Amino acid sequence: MSVPIRPLHPVFAGEISGIDCRKPLRADEVAAIEAGMNHYAVLVFRDQNLTDQEQIAFTRHFGELENYNTAGHVRKREDQRLGSGIADFSNLDKNGEIMSGDDRVWFFKLGDRLWHSDSSFRPIPAKYSLLSARVLPSWGANTEFADMRAAYDALDERTKAEVEELICEHSLIYSREAIGFTDLTPEEIAAFRPVRQRLVRTHPASGRKSLFLSSHAGAIVGWTIPEARMFLRDLTERATAPMFVYSHAWRPHDLVMWDNRSTMHRARRFDRAEIRDVRRTTLAGDAPTVQQEALPPTQPAPMRNAAAHIAQ
Ligand code: MN
Repeated sequence: MSVPIRPLHPVFAGEISGIDCRKPLRADEVAAIEAGMNHYAVLVFRDQNLTDQEQIAFTRHFGELENYNTAGHVRKREDQRLGSGIADFSNLDKNGEIMSGDDRVWFFKLGDRLWHSDSSFRPIPAKYSLLSARVLPSWGANTEFADMRAAYDALDERTKAEVEELICEHSLIYSREAIGFTDLTPEEIAAFRPVRQRLVRTHPASGRKSLFLSSHAGAIVGWTIPEARMFLRDLTERATAPMFVYSHAWRPHDLVMWDNRSTMHRARRFDRAEIRDVRRTTLAGDAPTVQQEALPPTQPAPMRNAAAHIAQ
C-alpha cells in the first residue's frame, strides 16, 4: 500500500498521511511506518484524536512498552493523573489543575527543555517515543528535534576517530543539576544513578552511525569531569546547529513519533498559566549500548561527585 511521507526538513522528519492511528494496523502499514522511521527518524501524524488506550495500542505495533521499576521523574506514584502505559507530560497535577511554578515536579519538567534523548539515563535506552497533543497553549511549546546521524556525518575525520570508542555516563542528576535543580531525595539519587552509553551508536536497521548525546550525559569514562562536560557541550552545540534541527509547531491531535536512537529533542517555552496536555508512550530499546554488567559493582566516582554537588 502507499503511505505517503512529505519531508519536513532537508535531512530528516516527515509528515505521514493515510494512517488512522485509532485502528489496528496491517503488517504492510507497520512495515511502511518502520521504513519511514528508519529514513526520517521523526514522523508526524496529523489529526489523530486518540484516547490513552488507542495511543497505547498504536504504540505496541512497533514493540514493547518501556516498563521499569524506577521512575524517570520526581512525581510520586500517588500523584499520577494517568493510568499505566502512558506518561503524563502535561503541566497538570493529579486533579487536573495547572501545577504551581514552584512545584518541584515543574522544576524537574523544565529539564526537558535541554537537548536530550529519552531514557538515555536507563541501562537500555528507549527506541521510539510517541507524543500526543491533547490540549495546547496559545503560543510557544514547540518540540525541536535534531538529527544525530547527520550531525555525526558532518564531523571531521579527526573528531570521528576521537569519539568512536568513547563511553559516557548518563543520569537525570546531571541534566537537572544543569538547570540548578538539585533538590533530590536520597531515594531519587539512588534511582537516578548513572549508567554507561556509547557516544557513537550504529542504527540496527539503517546501519547509520549517530552521536548518542543527551543533557543526561555528564561524564566520559577516563576523562575528568570538566574536560568531559566541555567536550559534550561543544559536540552538542555542533550537533544542534540549525541545519540539523526540525522545530515542530504542534496542532491539536498531532501524534509525533521519534527514534531516540538517532535523534535528540527538547521542549520549548510556553505560558505556564495555560494548559499543555501532552501524553507520551515509549517503546523499550532492544539492548544496552554497552554491557552494563562490565561496570565495577559500585560506580563510586560519579555518585560521589553528583551527591557532593547536590549537597552544596
Ligand atoms: Mn523527552
